[in-house]
Amino acid sequence: MHYYSLQNPQHRVSFEEAVVKGLAPDKGLYFPDHIPQLDKDFIDHLEQYDDLDIAYRVISPFVGHEIPEADLKQIIKDTLHFPFPLEKVADHIYALELFHGPTLAFKDVGARFMAGCLGYFRRNSTRPVTVLVATSGDTGGAVAHGFYNVPGIRVVILYPSGKVSTLQEKQLTTLGGNIVALEIQGTFDDCQQLVKTAFLDDDLQAHCQLTSANSINVARWLPQMFYYFLAYKQMKQAYPHLVFSVPSGNFGNICAGMMAAAMGMPVQRFIAATNINDTVPRFMETGKYTPGKATPTLSNAMDVADPSNFVRILRLFSDNLPALREKLTSGSFTDAATVTTMETVWAQHHYMLDPHGAVGYLGLEKYFQPAPGTAGIFLETAHPIKFADTAPAGLQDKITAPARIQELYDQPKAAVLLPDNYAALKQWLLANG
Ligand SMILES: *Cc1c(COP(=O)(O)O)cnc(C)c1O
Repeated sequence: MHYYSLQNPQHRVSFEEAVVKGLAPDKGLYFPDHIPQLDKDFIDHLEQYDDLDIAYRVISPFVGHEIPEADLKQIIKDTLHFPFPLEKVADHIYALELFHGPTLAFKDVGARFMAGCLGYFRRNSTRPVTVLVATSGDTGGAVAHGFYNVPGIRVVILYPSGKVSTLQEKQLTTLGGNIVALEIQGTFDDCQQLVKTAFLDDDLQAHCQLTSANSINVARWLPQMFYYFLAYKQMKQAYPHLVFSVPSGNFGNICAGMMAAAMGMPVQRFIAATNINDTVPRFMETGKYTPGKATPTLSNAMDVADPSNFVRILRLFSDNLPALREKLTSGSFTDAATVTTMETVWAQHHYMLDPHGAVGYLGLEKYFQPAPGTAGIFLETAHPIKFADTAPAGLQDKITAPARIQELYDQPKAAVLLPDNYAALKQWLLANG
């Protein structure tokens, strides 16, 4: 498989180069040069296959021969080492729970798979590579856990002091080993600016090899197809017709589902549910793509005004908007509706939503019509405990924390405090390279 830059189809690279570089030099996202088609017989009999076999059949055409079968199977095994249960919430409505991984959100899947691939590609290098990331909370934790103990890779995470939740800070600062947390006396934007400056600094790069674990990396995006296939496997006999509602921010998760469908998995419809950051719902209606500024909401991992993966969705449909409308519906929901939904779903069905899952649920409520043989699945992208601080007052004490959360709170924090100053960051990276 080759990948080309969405900015320039002439620029083609291998899977390895797409993973190591992340973005094309022209800043375009990488996209596979063809969509592999799965055997119809395989899809028709999916329930007879083991989960790991399914994941291997799905991802191997995208990797080609660049990672040997045994190594790729091991990477898949490490990626899927936690469950993705489907919980029935109401008649014809199911939650696909993606939060049973180490940092309690679905980003663990992409981060673990990418870490495995990068670790493989770096296996013979003598110089360690530094994965440098800025985080506003969630991404950093998933990356830290994904890369923990991967040989030849050091992870340096910049996070804004006092601006991440206690739980998020613990997830970033308690691993040790090859993971270092730099607590920056600034905002998330300051952290991001420091990282950008470092990537442009040739002098630094001559001494210290840097790479990013950006969310648009193909090795983070594509493995997200796994759980759509696993959901289909479980549901196909009772419900041959599935509608997926995906709470969307950067649109990577839903784009992976749409890639699964493009490979031959039957899906009736996708619903992209957003909070009031509604660039895509407006585009679907008007055909005009006019991103504004992001507005903060309760579902803050989706506070994205200019979703980077949406160009990939358009390309899947050959940039044909009427064809895209046949498969994708998109709607935007307010914080008030999110809170009401969390309360009513608890009161009526005894299911605890997090604010992101609640937006997904709202998407089903508005656009999904239950019928025999048809099920609506919304993706529950984070454990509600991650957002307990902002949960409705009546629900806060009803959220049950997984046991490992308490263990995490008991671990000591280890972070290096640095000012918001590039010279200080550079000096630290050079001294500790
Ligand atoms: C990142 C994130 C999302 C949005 O996913 P995209 O792939 O960016 O659309 C939704 N929910 C949670 C909890 C997230 O962390």
